[in-house]
Amino acid sequence: VPVSARVLPIRDPDGTVTGAVEIFNDNSLQVSARQKIEELQKIALIDPLTDLGNRRYAEITLRSRFDELNRYGWRFGVLFIDVDYFKQINDTYGHLFGDRILRMIGKTLANSLRSFDVVCRWGGEEFLAVIVNVNVRQLNTIASRLHALVEQAGLPQDDRMIHATVSIGGALARPGDTMEALVHRADEQMYKCKLEGRNRFSIAPEV
Ligand code: GH3
Ligand code: MG
Ligand code: MG
Repeated sequence: VPVSARVLPIRDPDGTVTGAVEIFNDNSLQVSARQKIEELQKIALIDPLTDLGNRRYAEITLRSRFDELNRYGWRFGVLFIDVDYFKQINDTYGHLFGDRILRMIGKTLANSLRSFDVVCRWGGEEFLAVIVNVNVRQLNTIASRLHALVEQAGLPQDDRMIHATVSIGGALARPGDTMEALVHRADEQMYKCKLEGRNRFSIAPEV
């Protein structure tokens, strides 16, 4: 146990040393406090079902990306990913199977992204990916890849494979943008995909 001690003299009002006090500094307490804080931070930022970052983590990530955009001009974009007819999957195969589908989709997305991109669980059956250093064309390529990989992934149930599809909307951040405005533009594109029949992707054109 790492312990350090410091001896401080105790003086009476005219300065005469009348005693001493030994101050123990038990570093193990600090270490465990730090571990606890790290543990709590983890709990606060990780979605327990999918093991991905949660919405709060997504917002922290977006704030950093916006700082970089405004300071250095580094472009980035977001992909808003919503599972198609997920309520129907729950109703047909049960909520626990639905949970497994969400885990599978989360893993598929995370495994298909570049190491510096981040995908989080935004809520319910919605994921948000933050994609750095891209233009509209490249964001489109990444959305296309994620879309195809989710479509190919499946979970076995009663001797057959169950597949889920996603609708993906994307948008590029602009200087002077806000987090809300950016996510809203991506969400609009995702909603457009739903209206057009789902199981597709669309990136907002640059203005
Ligand atoms: P759409 O194609 O329009 O997106 O249809 P949808 O059914 O996916 O969308 P809707 O918003 O109607 O339903 C989402 C469902 O997701 C409803 C909710 O019960 C389910 N859901 C949300 N969170 C979880 C979860 O953690 N686990 C499971 N199993 N289901 C969840
Ligand atoms: Mg939804
Ligand atoms: Mg949905």
